[in-house]
Amino acid sequence: MSHNPIRPWRNIDRRTSRQIHVGKVPVGGDAPISVQTMTNTDSSDVKATVAQVLACAEAGADIVRVSTPDESSTRALKEIVAESPVPIVADIHFHYKRAIEAAEAGAACLRINPGNIGDKARVREVIKAARDHGCSIRIGVNAGSLEKHLLEKYGEPCPEAMVESGMDHIRILQDNDFHEFKISVKASDVFLAAAAYQGIAEATDAPIHLGITEAGTLNAGTVKSSIGLGNLLWAGIGDTLRVSLSADPVEEVRVGFEILKSLGLRHRGVNIISCPSCARQGFDVIKTVETLEQRLEHIKTPMSLSIIGCVVNGPGEALMTDVGFTGGGAGAGMVYLSGKQSHKLSNEKMIEHIVEQVETKAAEIEAAAAVAEAAAE
Ligand code: SF4
Repeated sequence: MSHNPIRPWRNIDRRTSRQIHVGKVPVGGDAPISVQTMTNTDSSDVKATVAQVLACAEAGADIVRVSTPDESSTRALKEIVAESPVPIVADIHFHYKRAIEAAEAGAACLRINPGNIGDKARVREVIKAARDHGCSIRIGVNAGSLEKHLLEKYGEPCPEAMVESGMDHIRILQDNDFHEFKISVKASDVFLAAAAYQGIAEATDAPIHLGITEAGTLNAGTVKSSIGLGNLLWAGIGDTLRVSLSADPVEEVRVGFEILKSLGLRHRGVNIISCPSCARQGFDVIKTVETLEQRLEHIKTPMSLSIIGCVVNGPGEALMTDVGFTGGGAGAGMVYLSGKQSHKLSNEKMIEHIVEQVETKAAEIEAAAAVAEAAAE
């Protein structure tokens, strides 16, 4: 994590975790916090699942999880993996055979709880398959499916029970000398999830997969996830995350990135700073920002754009952004480039012109980065 000596109040000290790999994606250590999502197609439908994986990858997903509840879906997994640009995690329910099939089909990671597999021989078989095929494992503790003996011991799902469950599963992998694992301790209640994650973060150095499970609809789930995950990420906890929404998986990716972008932990695409608008606005801010958001979706370069209704806040925000527009009078406003006032622009030509300016700036940033990279080699 880069430290900001000028603005120390922006620094986040990430918890030190071990690094593992999910395919080509490093998770933990100093690796960027990766964004995951999960397909909701029928996994045995290769065409539909691949289309969704590609859409999620295009939106920025680093890793995509596919549920493999039966043999037809583990058979389909081979083709899905072959066509996916990002590593695929196979979500196994309980069946050890599905886990072995998924490892053989090329899954980069198995989401399976070793304590749920059954007898020790089966556990060993699954671990062997993971090892032989370069698969990591995610232990996924969920408050809603805690082991019976822990519910009896603690009376209800609580952080201590979740941490104990997680550590029991971890021990099984460690006893089999398997260390390529990460862990999640999810709950739909933000207090429970946050406390469980804090507990597991202290109990192990394994990389942590964050999530508030069953968070709800796009709006409600985004708020809930932002509070739960934001709080943990701000405290330095979390190496990879999934936002769980009752919505298109592409939305989960977008929300995941927005959470990371808000905390300065990842940067991707255009960060649009816009005012809420009021009677002083010199143009229709809301409509303009909505249109620009869609028109600029193709930009992957991390950069900023301020779209502000009037001079009350416009020039100040434009000082800190790569491209800025501030509304003025008589149907025109001011364009700012790299924080400096540049030229007047009529509201009518605004969308096309700003898209052009952002594209040009993105190309400049990419070219400068390429020069810096070449110089560093
Ligand atoms: S920047 Fe101007 S238009 Fe936007 S909310 Fe503030 S006063 Fe209103």
